[in-house]
Amino acid sequence: MKTFCGRANPTTGAMEWLEEAEDYDYHQEIARSRYADMLHDKDRNVKYYEGICAAVSRVKGRGEKAIVLDIGTGTGLLSMMAASAGADFCYAIEVFRPMANAAVKIVEKNGFSDKIKVINKHSTEVTVGPDGDMECRANILVTELFDTELIGEGALPTYEHAHKYLVQEGCEAVPHRATVYVQLVESKRMWAWNKLFPIHVEAEDGEKIIVPPSEVENCPGVPSVCDIQLNQVPSSDFTVLSDVVTMFSVDFSKPVQSASTCYRVQLEPVKSGKAQIVLSWWDIDMDPSGLINCTMAPYWVNPTSALQWRDHWMQCVYFLPSEEPVLQGERVHLSACRDEYSVWYTLHKASQEEQEAAAGSPVCRCHAHLLWNRARFGQLNDQEWTQRYSQALRTVLNRDSVCLCISDGSLLPVLAHCLGAKQVQYFILFFRFLHFTLFLKANHLEDKIKIIEARPELLKPSHFEDKKISVVVGEPFFSTSLLPWHNLYFWYARTAVSSHLSSSVTVLPHSASLHMMIVEFQDLWRIRSPCGICEGFDVQTMDDMIKDSLSFRESKEAEPHPLWEYPCKSLSDPQEVLTFDFRTTVPQHCLSTEGSVNLLRKGKSHGAVLWMEYHLAADISISTGLLQISNEKGSCSWNPHCKQAVYFFTSVLDAQALSDPAAVTYAINFDTKTGEIAMDFKL
Ligand code: SAH
Repeated sequence: MKTFCGRANPTTGAMEWLEEAEDYDYHQEIARSRYADMLHDKDRNVKYYEGICAAVSRVKGRGEKAIVLDIGTGTGLLSMMAASAGADFCYAIEVFRPMANAAVKIVEKNGFSDKIKVINKHSTEVTVGPDGDMECRANILVTELFDTELIGEGALPTYEHAHKYLVQEGCEAVPHRATVYVQLVESKRMWAWNKLFPIHVEAEDGEKIIVPPSEVENCPGVPSVCDIQLNQVPSSDFTVLSDVVTMFSVDFSKPVQSASTCYRVQLEPVKSGKAQIVLSWWDIDMDPSGLINCTMAPYWVNPTSALQWRDHWMQCVYFLPSEEPVLQGERVHLSACRDEYSVWYTLHKASQEEQEAAAGSPVCRCHAHLLWNRARFGQLNDQEWTQRYSQALRTVLNRDSVCLCISDGSLLPVLAHCLGAKQVQYFILFFRFLHFTLFLKANHLEDKIKIIEARPELLKPSHFEDKKISVVVGEPFFSTSLLPWHNLYFWYARTAVSSHLSSSVTVLPHSASLHMMIVEFQDLWRIRSPCGICEGFDVQTMDDMIKDSLSFRESKEAEPHPLWEYPCKSLSDPQEVLTFDFRTTVPQHCLSTEGSVNLLRKGKSHGAVLWMEYHLAADISISTGLLQISNEKGSCSWNPHCKQAVYFFTSVLDAQALSDPAAVTYAINFDTKTGEIAMDFKL
């Protein structure tokens, strides 16, 4: 069975109909799922097991039968733990059909079919009674329904329902309780992910400042959580303004309320500064004593204890609606409000009473936060990035330049204007960014820069008042791109507007190159590596399922990851593999290359990392990937505002003992018609 899916090709911009096998989405879901990561999370697994054993023995100790309800069983892992801990019966609920099927197989393979009943339903559909899914209510409630924000995957409504209909009063719960912690910090780096700073530009006639419109400045941003690997942020990137405090906790053994509510704590700043960011994480106590604790606390909280790496649970960065100066020792109130699925924060001086109750969840009113994600804000605030562009623009612009910018909501037109292109400039917008007009207003450029909201192939000479374009600029950045080469859309758009360009047109960047390097990851390999046996249970069925889904597409795909969050070491030199000349139009033929890279360091070749570099002028380039290899060991630093493409070598991830290869051969093909890059690597 095939289905057709319509989409705009991220690289070529063409509208296309893709014929997808019906189970494409399912395979995507499994291949990109976090199940492998969870199964590799030793700390989580061990503590769940301990907590489950303790709960079963408490119930047995009271002379009761232990009836377990495991909501969201996934592979069936927690139910199998309960069964081997001596539970009399487990109801394992799983809403995602392929996972429920896998759970049945795994449970059977491990010999627990008589103790565990897998029910393929959402927990709120489960019935209890003689003819129901469950014969009776359970007295042990086991779940793992948490995301980085704790409640984002709907844990609260699920618990609320379970306590009303599926478990007995006074039941045991594993985990028993969750606690959310917060710490107030000042951080220019993180603040730059949600606010736009004034941009300083050195022009011939002195320094100019591009100011953000007040609407953007006063906008709280979007409510979606900013979850990151906080352990990769060095302590020099933020200033701690408060101790770590408990914001709220949830007792899962008692009825849970999911209705919106607010919590408030008093903070005594340990330092004066600008309160901008609330860093937050949680821990779960697997039993009432609190002795079996699984924590997401970052490195500076318990410096002596070993950190468990995991990607399925990270830490949260919350942006306060506006920055507030705080004074050391002068108390402030921090409020956390939540609805069923998300949390947001506000800060008040002690004198401002109770008004936070009115504060709703943040809503972006300026539209900038809808078009730009947090990494893009970071990029726009990156002075180095702006400087390189300024430098390059200065070499090509003059008073008569007629400039066309092709990028989503880019500030390059404003920059170009500051740098002396006094002619009207044109700016193509493919996506509505209402507040670009506010940008123009704030910088008094309404009559200097024209916004054209049209697809490039639909542009007419009249759009440019019959003038020919002398300079085409782009960052390139498009909000539709996921993989680095998707931004080659700039090339396609530039090709589509060819008839409007003067014969001596300058294109900036004039070219781009695709670079590749073989790496060994410190931890990221876990998300794609088979698990085999997890805490004594055979979960190979899950491994096979993931493998099957990963190889579902004939051409294997690279996946985007922000590598500043995922340390790795380079095993080869970085290598330029393809170049794209923006001065000419996109050719009809494919661009392909073959070769090999030598492995210079010892290590496991987990995969290849690929990224783009843009060449702006003679000796001015910008890298969206590798910035430098910082030491002998091959530690890499990556552009913090971009995602890089990672192509995992499954043969290395699968093999237990493989002798290290000396070289990796590659074949890379860029199909200019489809905009897709196909890759093949041999170790
Ligand atoms: N318990 C497993 C898997 C946890 S992942 C383990 O600890 O390894 C969470 C799983 O819960 C997912 O498979 C998801 O599909 C499922 N899920 C989430 N909410 C659910 C609900 N209310 N009812 C049934 N399944 C749910």
